[in-house]
Amino acid sequence: MLIDAHAHLDHYGAALEAALVEIRQQQIFTVSTAMDPPSYGRAREIAERCDLVLPTFGIHPWRAPAYVDRLAQYRTDIERSPILGEIGLDCRWVKDLSCHPAQRRVFEYFLAAAREQGKIVNLHTAGAEAAVLQLLERYDIQRAIIHWYAGPLDIFHALVQRGYSFTIGVEVHSSAHIQAIARALPASQLLTETDNPGGARWLTGELGMPALLRGVVRVLAALRSTSEEAIAQTVQENFVRLIQDDPWLEEVRGKFVP
Ligand SMILES: [Zn+2]
Repeated sequence: MLIDAHAHLDHYGAALEAALVEIRQQQIFTVSTAMDPPSYGRAREIAERCDLVLPTFGIHPWRAPAYVDRLAQYRTDIERSPILGEIGLDCRWVKDLSCHPAQRRVFEYFLAAAREQGKIVNLHTAGAEAAVLQLLERYDIQRAIIHWYAGPLDIFHALVQRGYSFTIGVEVHSSAHIQAIARALPASQLLTETDNPGGARWLTGELGMPALLRGVVRVLAALRSTSEEAIAQTVQENFVRLIQDDPWLEEVRGKFVP
């Protein structure tokens, strides 16, 4: 099975049906990360219609100011979510400095929950890579999926050193920096993503569809001088290892048993 470890299926609108058809046809196990509570509700509804979709709850840094003063209300969503994300910090796209304390409070609230509940986190690190690393250390986070990492290489190496997994996505087609990261990543920490439907739209103006993952796998194979099959196999093994022994993901593991 292919793995899309970071997408936003609740953002598809009218194209959702077509996206689910592709997910089934191409057998793409998809982690649908929420950006806020309504987004999580929609992702859970979508997952009821497709067993290849795993909905996860997070409050995205862009949405942090709207929720920072009522986080306790979402305790149940946090508890029922098997992975926490999309969460993180953003100093690249959010220029308004007054938003940053809210981002930090929300992120730390989720990190405390991840530590307490022993959960994987799915992370946004744009322009705040060093601060994210520092918090992951402080909260003793053991398992993380670092989504679309595009930051400095010294922090990348420190995150690799901590054993975290990285999703390589659609920008691998066009960015030399992402290509360097895709080459440098230890094979055991490689995952794939689309960040659909917005990731491709940001780069090319076109709505991202699930089959874009095939193109990501193709470029990864070329960059790492191996075959597409080998990349797909490695990514699936990495994902299965990541969720191994995780009591929150027992049902998901069942989908990968041959
Ligand atoms: Zn995202």
